[in-house]
Parts: sequence; structure tokens; C-alpha cells
Amino acid sequence: MNTEFDTIIVGGGSAGAVLANRLSARSGHRVLLVEAGEDTPVGAVPPAILDSFPGTAYLNPRFTWTELEVTTEAIPHNRPDVRPRLRKYEQARVLGGGSSINGQLANRGAPGDYDEWEDRGAAGWNWDAVLPYFRKLERDMDFDGPLHGRDGPIPIRRIWPDRWPEHTKAMAAALLADGFEYRPDQNGIFADGYYPVAISNLDDRRVSTAIAYLDPATRLRENLTVLTGTIVTALRFEGERCIGAVIQPRPGEQIAIRAGEVILSSGAIQSPAQLLRAGIGPAPELRALGIPVRADRPGVGRRLMDHPSVAIAAFVMPWARINGRNRRHLFLGLRFSSGLDGVPAGDMGATIATKSAWHAIGDQIATFNMWVNKTYSEDGSVRLQSSDWRDMPIVDFNLLSDSRDLQRLVGAMQRFATLFARPELRGVVADPFPASYSDKVRQVAAINAKNRTITTVLARLLDGPAGVRRALLRKLVLEGPSLAALQRDEDALTSFIRRAAVGVWHASCSCRMGAANDRMAVTDTAGRVHGVAGLRVVDASIFPVIPCANINLPTIMLAERIADMIIDGR
Ligand SMILES: Cc1cc2nc3c(=O)[nH]c(=O)nc-3n(C[C@H](O)[C@H](O)[C@H](O)COP(=O)(O)OP(=O)(O)OC[C@H]3O[C@@H](n4cnc5c(N)ncnc54)[C@H](O)[C@@H]3O)c2cc1C
Repeated sequence: MNTEFDTIIVGGGSAGAVLANRLSARSGHRVLLVEAGEDTPVGAVPPAILDSFPGTAYLNPRFTWTELEVTTEAIPHNRPDVRPRLRKYEQARVLGGGSSINGQLANRGAPGDYDEWEDRGAAGWNWDAVLPYFRKLERDMDFDGPLHGRDGPIPIRRIWPDRWPEHTKAMAAALLADGFEYRPDQNGIFADGYYPVAISNLDDRRVSTAIAYLDPATRLRENLTVLTGTIVTALRFEGERCIGAVIQPRPGEQIAIRAGEVILSSGAIQSPAQLLRAGIGPAPELRALGIPVRADRPGVGRRLMDHPSVAIAAFVMPWARINGRNRRHLFLGLRFSSGLDGVPAGDMGATIATKSAWHAIGDQIATFNMWVNKTYSEDGSVRLQSSDWRDMPIVDFNLLSDSRDLQRLVGAMQRFATLFARPELRGVVADPFPASYSDKVRQVAAINAKNRTITTVLARLLDGPAGVRRALLRKLVLEGPSLAALQRDEDALTSFIRRAAVGVWHASCSCRMGAANDRMAVTDTAGRVHGVAGLRVVDASIFPVIPCANINLPTIMLAERIADMIIDGR
């Protein structure tokens, strides 16, 4: 195979697929895209990925880094040596990356988020600068005007209230009665209210970046090579210049590739790990692992973020469940303000899923998932356990390390627990209980015949007499006190949230961009790694701070903008 390229892109995910398309649009520029996971060519995309219901994609070990485990609980200040318990954390390993397995929620975040990027040192990144790229990436099927794009690669649509199942309609009615306004366009006006969630989806099918940006015409370009099922095992250097990468197309086979520039788009967990293995990171940590220090950058793998979340689940009466017209499970979102002093409006978010998993019990249980949109917990980390590329990094999210996050989740649980007593939900849902995406839930959600059989039998019992249902929910599902007990006792609620809060798969900010004189900045504002040449990071790792949004569209926006910078010679 050819071993010389102008650009190697490591990782064909939300960002990498965009870069591969845009950078190879110049016919003389030879681009190699290397993706560890499998290909998803248009016409042969696995049905689990195309499905509007994402639960069968992200729980499928075929499409994720199955060895990855992380901690999420806050690390106590007085016991920094004690590591909280490990849990699974799904990260994509497939072309399209997160966009191939995610929930397809398509939102941008608040204008203030991007102004904050600039305030934190990412000069030139602000709302006015990023809006054209949010427009460029999208083909909004519902809205037009100065805030929307009409001809970008990613189709964005909403499922309107007339197609919602009765449970979703009743939840929306309860929110309206609770004082929230209906906002049809969540990506237009950034204000509190409930809305039909925008999704990256067309004709009831997911549209990933692999589908949208690596379409058949793009793949015909002679100057673009896409290698899937191939891992980048190391970066190559001459002095302080990155001159390429080593790839492993098959176990035992290593090929050295040379390139003018290498772009890491491996996601917020693997990109910092690759920098650390290459000797770019906090010098003492690298030395302790016997890795020669190439550039002492203390910010690599530091200040990892996600949005902390908890949920209230409830049993949905049979008549109000998803009807046969929808594959999707989640139609309704909510933006709200905690009112906490000093935090911006719209600092909290929620989604209401009418179905919580692929199996028969999943059809019966709805979740009201709430998270801190404007989180201040930014003390997570990605570190190496060894210099061996086969070892997964040590990942600690340290969610709720800022007490304001904990306080606001407590407030949100208290506020929305009362929603379930509203008349709009009477006869629609029953037996609300506190929930989280725990490993127990994950175990039952693993896709296999045993889980299918067990859940089918239990689901029949759950649809039986209310007393049986309550007893079963208490025994099988509840992982702590009841909702009523938590409503009565704020201390119990607080400790439930400390234990139960998890992220929502928005790993980011672990190699932040910023000014060269900021010791914690890892890249400049075009993704170029400070301290070395020929190397960029372009993915969710370089966000200066996490926006108030799901982060697929912000990642695509970032890749679109940096692709333009690269083409302009920056
Ligand atoms: C389960 C789940 C649900 C989510 N739901 C939503 C949602 O509904 N809406 C939303 O906006 N966001 C959602 N997100 C978040 C969003 O999808 C991700 O933040 C986004 O995809 C990150 O993009 P990225 O380019 O930074 O990394 P990724 O898209 O993760 O891409 C990184 C790619 O690099 C590859 N790679 C890594 N290391 C190597 C290596 N050494 N060699 C070769 N290839 C490598 C990986 O296999 C992967 O494909 C979700 C994420 C997950 C996992």
C-alpha cells in the first residue's frame, strides 16, 4: 500500500469523517483516514446503526471499545488516593464514531457557550464565528432563516407532537401546566421551555458523519484512502516534528506511514492517551511511566468533562406506550433554569424517553433524564496505566466535583418528582422511582437471548395487578430508597445522587485549545499541538469547556471550521 500522505487522520468519528471529506476536496492533497472500527459504507450500513432507536447500536460490543471502564463519582478532596468504583462507559469504535451509535440528538448549545470559549483563551471562537459552521453542517428539514442551514450534509428534523405516543403527549401537557412554554425550535431561540428534540435522522434512519460525509462520491476521490479495522499504534517523530504514524491493519502487522501532518480525531479519551504515549503531557507523570518527555504539557488528559445526570423512571400504562408508528424512543426535551445565583439561564436540561431499552421491560418504563447543562465540574482526567497502546487509559470523570452541580441535581429531582402527581399524568404513568444508568441496568440491556426471555416473562407480570408490579419494581429495579423516601429526606436524596449520577457520554475538554502562554492549553485555536510540529488534535477533546448541549453537532461544527483553517493555510 501507499505509505506517503499529506495528512493522516486518526479516527473516523464525528470529527474525523468531516475532516476526511473537506481536506480531500483538494484533488492534490493525499488524505489517509484510519479507523479502528468497522466500515459502514452507504448501502451496507448495519441495521442497528441505521435504526432510529439507538439502544441496539451503543450496547452492541461490535461497535464500542469494550475494555473501557471509568469512574464517575467525585473523588473526595481528603482522600485523593481512593478511586471510586469502576463502571462501563460506551465509546464508539466504528466508522462515524459517536455519530454512528449516539442518541441522534442534534443541538448546538447556547450562544454564550461559544463566547465563553473565546473568554477562556480560544481567540476567534465565539458565537458569531461558529454559527456559519452550524449552518454549513446541517440541512434543517423544518426551519429556515438566518439561524439555519438548508443544504449541509447532516439532515436535521423533529417528530412533531401529533406523532408522539400518549405518554409523551401527557408529559408535555404536564410541563405546560407546570409553567413551561412550548418552543418548536430548540436550535433557534435558546430559552427555557419544552420542545420536540431535533435529531440527525432522515426517513426514520440515523445519519452519521460516515453516511453524510463519506458518501459514495467522496469515497471515489483518488486522493482519499479510508482504512477501517486498522489501529494507529504510535505516532512517529523526527525531533519535535511528527512525521507520521504506525498502523496495524491486522494483528501482528505494523506499517509505518509518513505524512506532512497527523490529525488526532480519536475522541476525548483516546486522543489524549495517544499524546501521552508520544511523550506529550505532564512531564512527571510521563517519567513515572518511563516515557521520554517530548513536550511538557500539563493539560494533556486533564479537565475532562461530561454532563452529570440522574433520572426518574416510571411505569407507563399499556395504552400510552410507543405506538407501532415510531421506532424512536425519545421525542421530548426540556431546557430549564435552576435559578442558582450566578449561573446562566438554561443551565439545566432534560429529555423524556417513552421507552428505556430494546427489551419488553424497556417498552414499559419511561425515563425523565435530567442533567446539568452548564456544569462546573471540570476535574476529570485521562491518564495512562502503561506506555503500551493495548492498555486502556485510566479515566476518572470526577463528576459533581463542584458542589453547585450536586445542589442543582438535588433541586431538579425535588422539582420534577412532584410532576408525577400532576393530573395530566394520572392513568398514564405509575410508580415513579429514582433511576440511573447503572451497571445493573446495563447488564439487563445487553442484547442476548437470555435477557430477551427473562424480560418478556417479567414484562407480562408487570402488566398484571398493581400490587405485583410494585413488588417486582421494588425487588428488581430499585437500587436504593424509593422516590417518596428521597422526597422526604434531602440528605438521602443527596447521597443517592452522589452515588447514582453518571455522565451522558459527552466526554470532552481533555486537550483544550487555548493561548500558547496558558500552560494548561494543549492546542492552539486551529488544533495545532503546542510544543511540537506536524500534529493537531481535532475532536471533542479540544473544547475549551463543554457547551450546554449534546456534543455531536458542536464536534462536527469544530471539525468543519478547523478544516477551513487548514485549507486557508493555518
Ligand atoms: C452512547 C452515546 C450516546 C450519545 N448521544 C448523543 C446524542 O444523542 N447527541 C449528541 O449530540 N451527542 C451524543 N453523544 C456524544 C457524541 O456522539 C460524541 O461526543 C461525538 O461523537 C465525539 O466525536 P469525536 O470525533 O470527538 O470522537 P468519536 O466520534 O468517538 O470518534 C473517535 C474515533 O476514533 C477511533 N479511534 C480511537 N483510537 C483510535 C486508534 N488508535 N486508531 C484508529 N482509530 C481510533 C474510534 O474508534 C472512533 O471511531 C453520544 C455518545 C455516545 C457514546
